[in-house]
Amino acid sequence: MEKNTLSLDTLCAALCRTMGVDAPETSASFCRELAEYAEKTFGGACADRIFMYNPDAIGQWVYEKYGFLMREVTERTELEIPFCTVMPSVTPVCFGTMYTGAQPEVHGIRTYTKPVIKTETLFDAMIRAGKKCAIVSTANDSISCIFLEREMDYYIYPSVAQVNAKAAQLIVEDKYDVIVVYNGNYDSLMHKYGPESTEALSELRANSLQFAMFDSMIKELWQKHNTLTGFAMDHGCHEIDGGCGSHGLDMPEDLNIVHFYKAHPAQN
Ligand SMILES: [Zn+2]
Repeated sequence: MEKNTLSLDTLCAALCRTMGVDAPETSASFCRELAEYAEKTFGGACADRIFMYNPDAIGQWVYEKYGFLMREVTERTELEIPFCTVMPSVTPVCFGTMYTGAQPEVHGIRTYTKPVIKTETLFDAMIRAGKKCAIVSTANDSISCIFLEREMDYYIYPSVAQVNAKAAQLIVEDKYDVIVVYNGNYDSLMHKYGPESTEALSELRANSLQFAMFDSMIKELWQKHNTLTGFAMDHGCHEIDGGCGSHGLDMPEDLNIVHFYKAHPAQN
């Protein structure tokens, strides 16, 4: 297994470009494949909505082996992008890069810690352009911590079920331009029982079904918007001794991930 060549640091600028917003100065150049797909599907126009569903720790190898548990995602999306995440391949470091477009030495999170990122993020870029952003996530998880202190709304709950209920409500209300939803349930069970355990794979399936629900709500309720939806994980995982799972190492199992995107053009 080889490491993927396209760095996750190219995502942030591609999302900004898709929204017609200047990317953070410290972000890497944009992922051409995603930007071109969105531009083509929106007929040369920009997106005015981005909905990012962020499941935790679904490695490319998990998708390749258990893709039948993710068919709701593959059936509902059009673009698969293999990325190589950053090192160390742990949650705050990787989401830090996903939403700053910068390498860990630039955004400042280089270990498993969750300080508020001081460099410019996707959210800062969107806010500067007048966009409204929301993060919906579980308490104490990386995404709930490292992007705080911005002029945006944070909906933080004790459980994944509450997170997803709130995200569904936000789709119905249609007030935000950018919504980021975090679900860490596969990661939790993967650590405890192993990446291929029935327990973890049940959560993989739950993530797939959850994305399908959000995507179908968006398709129905956001018809007047050009919306980009993404199923976008932070890093992969591997099995360790004792039937447990882990990640954080410089190996393809932990670094290789595949994101899924779908552009929904506005309906007339
Ligand atoms: Zn993670």
